[in-house]
Amino acid sequence: MKLCDKTQELISGYLDNELTQQDSQMVRVHIESCDNCKSIYQDLYAIKKATSELDYRTTEAEKIHKLLQEPTAKNFSVIGWTLLIIGLIGLMIFQAFTFFFSDEVPVIIKLLAFAIEAGALALFISVLRQRLIAQKTDKYKKVQL
Ligand SMILES: [Zn+2]
Repeated sequence: MKLCDKTQELISGYLDNELTQQDSQMVRVHIESCDNCKSIYQDLYAIKKATSELDYRTTEAEKIHKLLQEPTAKNFSVIGWTLLIIGLIGLMIFQAFTFFFSDEVPVIIKLLAFAIEAGALALFISVLRQRLIAQKTDKYKKVQL
């Protein structure tokens, strides 16, 4: 009976992985042979599992909720990306009439500059597209609620 008391004291620590290897082994061996302690262990396990999952869901849901509930940050970010894309396109058009057609600039430099700008533009557009999709989904969710 003394072993039962000791085991029940240690079950919580056992579930949290806080016991020494020796205690942990003692608890495991006892749980396997004692129905009373096994049922206590199973109850505690179920409670811990349920609460930790609940905590996880709450925090995750809150994080996403907060992210979606920041219209100012979101709008500023869309404006920022839009300005960057407009600026980049403008710069590329300007360069097309000056830099890219200049005889003084080596072809390899023209190609590299074009690669960097085209790559950045592609990235900007893909991010902007994702933002707009996220925004649409957000609006749809609000309507649903
Ligand atoms: Zn026991």
